[in-house]
Amino acid sequence: MTSSPLFQIEHLNAGYGESIVLSDVSLDVQQGEIVSLLGPNGAGKTTTMMAITGLLSAYGGTIRLDGHPITDKPAHKRVDLGVALSPEGRQVFPELNVEENLLLGSFASKARASRPRNLTRIYDLFPRLAERKKQLAGLMSGGEQQMLAIGRALMSEPRLLLLDEPSLGLSPLITELVYDTIPVIAAEGISILLVEQNTEAALAVSNRAYVLSHGRIVAAGKAEDLRDSAVLRDAFFGGA
Ligand code: ATP
Repeated sequence: MTSSPLFQIEHLNAGYGESIVLSDVSLDVQQGEIVSLLGPNGAGKTTTMMAITGLLSAYGGTIRLDGHPITDKPAHKRVDLGVALSPEGRQVFPELNVEENLLLGSFASKARASRPRNLTRIYDLFPRLAERKKQLAGLMSGGEQQMLAIGRALMSEPRLLLLDEPSLGLSPLITELVYDTIPVIAAEGISILLVEQNTEAALAVSNRAYVLSHGRIVAAGKAEDLRDSAVLRDAFFGGA
């Protein structure tokens, strides 16, 4: 790497109580880059996302944004600094409508003042949300809820957007629709860290990828080089 990365994790250890899930995880994401974190069930992908957002404390290691450590900052501070998560399972508020859900994405952040501009931007990106502004989120399809979760994360004007399994439970067609927006977001200069079990969809839009197995990075490289690699197969089907 020549330029210093927008986002960097160095030697991260994290887990739950006595149980260490992540061991010595290091990765980086350049500005405007799309990077995947791939791995099977239980590899530690969501745990990595939780540690990045500050919802889970690190046991060791450093997380940096723009070169500055954010490892000890509380979750809300990290949002203000530019880290936003679209969580696994979307977690939209079913009894609120689309626009209310979107507005919650900037509720406590410094992006509150630019809400009207950001709403317009998100409705441009996801016309389906614009058509359904007043619809209850709980009545939306899985794909629409996924768009809503991504839109809600974008409302805080992130520099690093964390997408946790955006294809979960979606048909291939709807997955494609959601995935089509990822390069558009990155083209605005937003860095994207994409967690997926759907390696094919993720690698198709990613510049680079890391493979996580049993809480350790077992491979890293350009997306096109990892696509047919044995190490990726081993991580999913045993061996790595
Ligand atoms: P998936 O694709 O199934 O979401 P993942 O790669 O995201 O998997 P994690 O959810 O990070 O994996 O889980 C990694 C490990 O941490 C698993 O062994 C899991 O059982 C454990 N784990 C996750 N959440 C907790 C928790 N709240 N308390 C204790 N252990 C947990």
